[in-house]
Amino acid sequence: MQSIAFFSLEYQHRQVMQELDAAFSKVITKGNFILGKCVDSFEKEYAKFQGVKHCAGTGNGHDALLIALKALGIGNGDEVIVPSHTCQATWLAVINTGARPIPVEVDESMTIDPAKIESAISFKTKAIIPVHLYGQPCEMDAIMSIAKKSNLFVIEDNAQAHGAKFKNQITGSFGHINATSFYPTKNLGAIGDGGAITTNEDHLYELAKAIGNYGSVKKDEHFIQGMNSRLDELQAAFLSIKLKKLEKWNELRKQNANIYFQNLQPVGDILLPPKATEDSKPVYHQFVIRTTHRDKLKAYLDKNEIGTAIHYPVPVHLQKAYSDLGFSKGSFPIAQRLAETVLSLPVWPGLKKEEIEFVCDEIKEFYSKAQSYTTI
Ligand SMILES: *Cc1c(COP(=O)(O)O)cnc(C)c1O
Repeated sequence: MQSIAFFSLEYQHRQVMQELDAAFSKVITKGNFILGKCVDSFEKEYAKFQGVKHCAGTGNGHDALLIALKALGIGNGDEVIVPSHTCQATWLAVINTGARPIPVEVDESMTIDPAKIESAISFKTKAIIPVHLYGQPCEMDAIMSIAKKSNLFVIEDNAQAHGAKFKNQITGSFGHINATSFYPTKNLGAIGDGGAITTNEDHLYELAKAIGNYGSVKKDEHFIQGMNSRLDELQAAFLSIKLKKLEKWNELRKQNANIYFQNLQPVGDILLPPKATEDSKPVYHQFVIRTTHRDKLKAYLDKNEIGTAIHYPVPVHLQKAYSDLGFSKGSFPIAQRLAETVLSLPVWPGLKKEEIEFVCDEIKEFYSKAQSYTTI
C-alpha cells in the first residue's frame, strides 16, 4: 500500500535547492540582513508579477493585512466586512486595528457572497476584505462596484491565491491595497514567515512601507507610529527564486485538480469545488470537497495512509478567542455547515497522476463499502 502525504515541498525544493543554497551563502556573506538589496529586488519582481505599481514586504500575512488596514486609517469604531468562512487571520487583523469585523456569508464558491454584502454595510463600514479562499477568485467586479457605490476601500486577502485570475486580471491587483502571505505552504512560500502588500497608489505604498518599519522611511525620522514587520532579506532572496517557478507549479496544481474532476464526478454525495471558467481561473491552493460523511471519509483515508486536512474545522465565529464579538451557534449557518463538511485532498505540485487516481479509487471504495453513504 502506498502512502500519500497531504502536503510536501520536496518536489519543489529539489528543483531549486542549489539556487537556495547559493542565495543563502550570498546573503550571509554580504551581511545585510534587514531591508537589503534582495528585499528591494523581490518587491519589484512581485509587483511586476501582480501587475501593480508597488509591493512592500512584511513579516507575515497577518501583518500585511494589519498594515494595509492601518495605511487606510482604519481603527477604533470602524467596521470591516469579512467572509464568514476564512482563515482566522483575516478577522484578527481587523480586530488588531481596534475595528470590528462584520462577517458576511459565503456562496457556493466558498468565497464571500456579493449579494449579501450591501445589507451588512453601516455608517461605520470602511472596507471590505474579500478572501480568495482555497485559490478561488472572488467575484471582484461585483465587489468593486459595491465598494465604489458605498465609498468603501477594498483589501484583497490574496494569501491563498498567488496567480489566480478573475476576468483575465490577477487577484491581488483589484483592491486599493492588498495583502498576501508567503507562509511556507502557500502557493508561493518562503522558508519561514513572510508576507507583502501590493498597491497602485503611491501614498498607500509609502505609508505601508513606513508602518512596517517603525513608522520610518528615512533613518531616525518617524512620522507615524508603526510596528516592526519587515520581510526578511534571506526570505526575499528565497522568494525571488521560487517566484520564477510559481506559474509552472500552479499549472501542476491545476492538472492535479483536473484529475480529481475527471475521477470524482459523481461519487457519493461529494460536492466538488468550482472548476475554472472563462471568467474565473483558480490556482487550487487547496482542493476542497464537501461531504456529509466528512469525518468518516477522513478516518477511512487516514487508515489507508492518505493524508487530508480540514480548512477549517471550527468556524472563526465559534472560536473562544472571538467570543467577545457576541456570535453563537447559528449566527452563520453556511460557515458552520462548511466547517462540518469540507475536506482538503492532496493537490501539491509533484504529486503523480497515479497517486491522485489512487486517492480517487480509495474514495470510491469508501462510498461503495457503505452504500448508505451515497444518500444524504
Ligand atoms: C495564511 C493566511 C493568512 C495569514 O498569513 P500568515 O503569513 O500565516 O500570517 C491570512 N489569510 C489567509 C486567507 C491565509 O490563508
